[in-house]
Amino acid sequence: MTKLIYERSQAGRRASEIPRPEGLPAAEVPEELRRAEPPRLPELAEPEVLRHFTELSTRNFGIDTGFYPLGSCTMKYNPRVNERVVALPGFRDLHPLQEEDGAQGALELMWRLQEILAEVTGLDAVSLQPAAGSQGELTGLMLVRAYFNENGDAKRRKVVIPDTAHGTNPASVTMAGYEVTPVATDPRGNIDVDDLREKVTEETAALMLTNPSTLGLFDENIEEITRIFHSAGALMYYDGANLNAVCGISRPGDMGFDIVHINLHKTFSQPHGGGGPGGGPIAVRKTLEPFLPVPAVIHREDGSFGLDYDRPQTIGKVRAFTGPFGVFVRSYAYIRSYGPRLREMSEVAVLNANYLLARLKDAYDLPFDRHCMHEFVLSARTLKREHGITALDVAKRLMDYGFHPPTIYFPLIVPEALMIEPTETEPKEILDAFCDAMLAIAREAAEEPELLKEAPHDRPVRRLDEVRAAKRAIVKYGFEAHPEPDGEPVEPRQLEAQKGG
Ligand SMILES: *Cc1c(COP(=O)(O)O)cnc(C)c1O
Repeated sequence: MTKLIYERSQAGRRASEIPRPEGLPAAEVPEELRRAEPPRLPELAEPEVLRHFTELSTRNFGIDTGFYPLGSCTMKYNPRVNERVVALPGFRDLHPLQEEDGAQGALELMWRLQEILAEVTGLDAVSLQPAAGSQGELTGLMLVRAYFNENGDAKRRKVVIPDTAHGTNPASVTMAGYEVTPVATDPRGNIDVDDLREKVTEETAALMLTNPSTLGLFDENIEEITRIFHSAGALMYYDGANLNAVCGISRPGDMGFDIVHINLHKTFSQPHGGGGPGGGPIAVRKTLEPFLPVPAVIHREDGSFGLDYDRPQTIGKVRAFTGPFGVFVRSYAYIRSYGPRLREMSEVAVLNANYLLARLKDAYDLPFDRHCMHEFVLSARTLKREHGITALDVAKRLMDYGFHPPTIYFPLIVPEALMIEPTETEPKEILDAFCDAMLAIAREAAEEPELLKEAPHDRPVRRLDEVRAAKRAIVKYGFEAHPEPDGEPVEPRQLEAQKGG
């Protein structure tokens, strides 16, 4: 592997230096803050520095490098026009404490985005404030609580969640002080309605549901499910992470949901992964509007836009100022670039997923044999039984073919799950190349299983201990996490010291 920047250092090497203007006084640094010795920095000529950083950038895989079918995460291409728009000085240089009259354009953009999201979800009011889907979930559950407290119905302590749910759902329920009531999935991949009926009581506060589910299936009984909850006086929460399947086709509000979060960074494009930045606005029915976070972005009768803090029943703030503004601009640009044809976005996403499904379903197991929505879940359980090849092996081998692996081992109810989401931004040639690779891997599993067991073969790193890589990331040059047998976290130890140098 190429040497790192510190290892390429040669004493006395320099990049070009801009001459100091004459007569400029030296900076006034107090004596006690001055360095005694120069900092230990690598000494290199400019081209070597540039090569170092360019080389590092090629070690990461991103949507700009190739196909990224990471199910549930909606890794679509992020159009460059979004970046041009968000970098307009009026957006980029705006201070969050700018007076309203100097921020009318930004306020109008937020208000328009709210209006669009209300239309897309089929609900009445929107808050853009939460910074991620998971924070939208927590905010939504705080609204549920505020609503029941207001109505003297605080005995409701339970939230129903299907066994296919994303991990953030039960986590949010617990953080919001509620208890999880799990509900099973039936053989067609829908919520088991009989199981559900027994679990909804006068203590139930809400259902949390992703529809289409993490299996990529639209729940065929959604109207019946809504009836069960609403007739028990409970609310319906829609995890909008899979909204990419239904925009302009069906609306959570029409299905009966009362609260929805939208993952702007998934459905409406935004470079994401590695922790952000994201946007998780929530849309609610009129009855829940008084509890939304402040400030509300409003359009006044005189035509101006502004921030309204005068909401006596609000749950308060969940994030600084009005939320992640740069994300709003990118998502607004993405939505407006489709204009009234937003439905095409979802139609192509669903078509692409069904195309992949049709080509792959004979080579892998398909636990729920139905048309899918924008993603689908295969299983490698036959490969495992017959050849000892797991979903992890398939994922690692895909990297050799130049593709990002799909999501694996989720949802939890599918053994050896491979969850594939192509999104609408991929052409047929790429989809075909991906299928060819998946089919080749299924053949290799039978003929050359060792090839898969040892994959990836030609990436900057081979197979990692993924738990340790995440829990004890080495983020500093020259340091190495030192594993301790008792599992106690320890100070990283200097590599040089280990080498005795
Ligand atoms: C991504 C996702 C979430 C959480 O959203 P974040 O924006 O990552 O916090 C919740 N549910 C499902 C189904 C998801 O795919």
